[in-house]
Amino acid sequence: MLQSHQQSLQEARVPIQRSGRREEGDPWHTEAVCRRDEAALFFAPSKEPTADRLSREAAAKRVCARCPVMVECREHALLLPEPYGVWGGLTAAERRVVQARRRRRDTAEKLTAPRGIAQAG
Ligand code: SF4
Repeated sequence: MLQSHQQSLQEARVPIQRSGRREEGDPWHTEAVCRRDEAALFFAPSKEPTADRLSREAAAKRVCARCPVMVECREHALLLPEPYGVWGGLTAAERRVVQARRRRRDTAEKLTAPRGIAQAG
């Protein structure tokens, strides 16, 4: 069974709440615009029909689009990684694509990086 966004965020110590302006040093999620009562928007119920999923995800992305911490949220979900739900305007499938792209980029950079002096000999 999939976790609710609220449960997942609580486990990640990232509460869904709107608490106003973020002060210097406050964690990014204090400016999240998603609310606890919107958790169903961000996570799929079991056996959700495709059309319903696409509609729900589009609605969740509209919430994310007006969120001032979308970039921070997205990076959090990519780095953890969060396996389910819409985070930072990306679905789980979209995050997997970004992660795969980053892995390919990192591999290419390692392969093309100049070799160290000890290795160059
Ligand atoms: S980007 Fe979306 S999921 Fe992340 S905190 Fe903002 S509204 Fe919530």
